[in-house]
Amino acid sequence: MNFEFTEEQLAVQAAARDFAQTELLPGVIERDNKQEFPTEQIKKMGELGFLGMMTDPKYNGGGMDAVSYVLAMEEISKIDASSSVVMSVNNSLVCAGLEKHGTEEQKQKYLTKLTTGEQIGAFCLSEPEAGSDATSQRTTAVDMGDHYLLNGTKNWITNGNSASVYIVMAQTNPEKRHKGINALIIEKGMDGFVVGKKEDKLGIRGSDTHSLMFTDVKVPKENRIGAEGFGFSFAMGTLNGGRIGIASQALGIASGAYELALKYSKERKAFGKEICQHQAIQFKLADMATNIDAARLLCLQAAVMKDQGKDFAKEGAMAKLFASQTAMDTTVEAVQIHGGYGFVKEYHVERLMRDAKITQIYEGTSEIQKIVISREVLK
Ligand SMILES: Cc1cc2nc3c(=O)[nH]c(=O)nc-3n(C[C@H](O)[C@H](O)[C@H](O)COP(=O)(O)OP(=O)(O)OC[C@H]3O[C@@H](n4cnc5c(N)ncnc54)[C@H](O)[C@@H]3O)c2cc1C
Repeated sequence: MNFEFTEEQLAVQAAARDFAQTELLPGVIERDNKQEFPTEQIKKMGELGFLGMMTDPKYNGGGMDAVSYVLAMEEISKIDASSSVVMSVNNSLVCAGLEKHGTEEQKQKYLTKLTTGEQIGAFCLSEPEAGSDATSQRTTAVDMGDHYLLNGTKNWITNGNSASVYIVMAQTNPEKRHKGINALIIEKGMDGFVVGKKEDKLGIRGSDTHSLMFTDVKVPKENRIGAEGFGFSFAMGTLNGGRIGIASQALGIASGAYELALKYSKERKAFGKEICQHQAIQFKLADMATNIDAARLLCLQAAVMKDQGKDFAKEGAMAKLFASQTAMDTTVEAVQIHGGYGFVKEYHVERLMRDAKITQIYEGTSEIQKIVISREVLK
């Protein structure tokens, strides 16, 4: 077992850290306040290769390994989780799904632009009445011969308005239940496709989360990903990879809050000494550092297994479960260490605390991760 990163991995980590400090940090509080999508920042991320990191260079991707992706996600998420969710969805749900299962024509048409940020992608599985239970898809894609007729509503869609390419899961053959679901590529501007309201969220307020409405949208058959009825397997398999992204996002939120708390604890004085001299604060820092290291190791374990072509369903779920809990615990304690200053926006930790919560909910709640893990350990 080798715990050393390669020079290339370290270079990616340094580039992400530099980008986060110079491009994301300025304005991050204002974007959160105004719920403003980081348009310019995402464009630059695309130019630097952060939006298609693991995709083959022949589709304009970075050809990097999942370990580099974890390192970059952590650095970006330390500063701005609203930007890192765009990065995570585009990399691990949209680009990875299309690269693995799309036709060559789909890859040339969509993937080559998604990897550079020329286009942004969205992954559309959740519905008003189908969240954790994703088999209950109400959106329908009726087979009309040369095309599908798409009707229904998706909600909570990340990049809902900023995307141009949407992978939409829809039920074609209800008798076959989840084996009747298809994954279809929808383009913004298709007749009958309307982007609905933007959600006013607790955290990741810079990201745009929307409902989407489809009314008699004609989707050409060539826009289906994989074979007829492959949509549910496509979604579940792709979400497995996505969990490494969200686990690393949670890790970054935790380590960002920890770094701020550590620094603050060395500066702030109470009862004649720096607060880090009080054992109560030291123990909080010790817990934070230990949990963050454990979360990072779980993320890297899942990433290494993915890079080795092994099944990482259990490890990805463990990484997400643990890292998201660590993000919650660490950010709450980071606010506590900051005292009253932690409760105001200027010090960043209250935003990180709000951002942390979503990592326990999207791409499978913590309860769902426990279902995945227990299913694997009981096999
Ligand atoms: C900001 C944001 C962005 C999102 N982005 C996307 C996106 O880009 N694409 C997309 O498709 N979706 C997206 N989602 C949706 C997200 O994945 C769902 O919200 C999530 O899967 C939970 O579904 P739900 O909200 O319907 O909750 P429910 O499934 O109704 O769950 C409610 C509660 O019940 C628990 N529960 C449910 N079933 C079980 C069970 N069997 N055992 C134990 N507990 C259970 C859950 O863990 C949860 O605590 C996003 C959500 C948010 C808030």
